[in-house]
Amino acid sequence: MGNTELERLVSLQDLDLMIEESEEVEKLGFSITGCSELKVARQELATKISKPLLFRYERLRGKLKRAIVPVKNDICLGCFLRQPTSISAQGREGTDLFTCENCGRILYWLD
Ligand SMILES: [Zn+2]
Repeated sequence: MGNTELERLVSLQDLDLMIEESEEVEKLGFSITGCSELKVARQELATKISKPLLFRYERLRGKLKRAIVPVKNDICLGCFLRQPTSISAQGREGTDLFTCENCGRILYWLD
């Protein structure tokens, strides 16, 4: 578990959000170029993320639009709850995985 894996997960979520948006537009009858490329990139990236983390992410994504959110100034940007200073200090090191106690989202630190 390191920062890189969380970074990959953030990129994965970006791709998922882009795919979702493309699909919404396609539902309206427009064809989007690049949507299938996005899906291929998503598949490839998913193989580089550990299974338990990916599973956790997928489960959260089932109910939330964003499963992984940044923490800025100790505040979870998913639900705006202030994170305990001790958690924030460890989170910044990026050696462990933390989730917000209030909203359950996976957290990553921006500062
Ligand atoms: Zn939260």
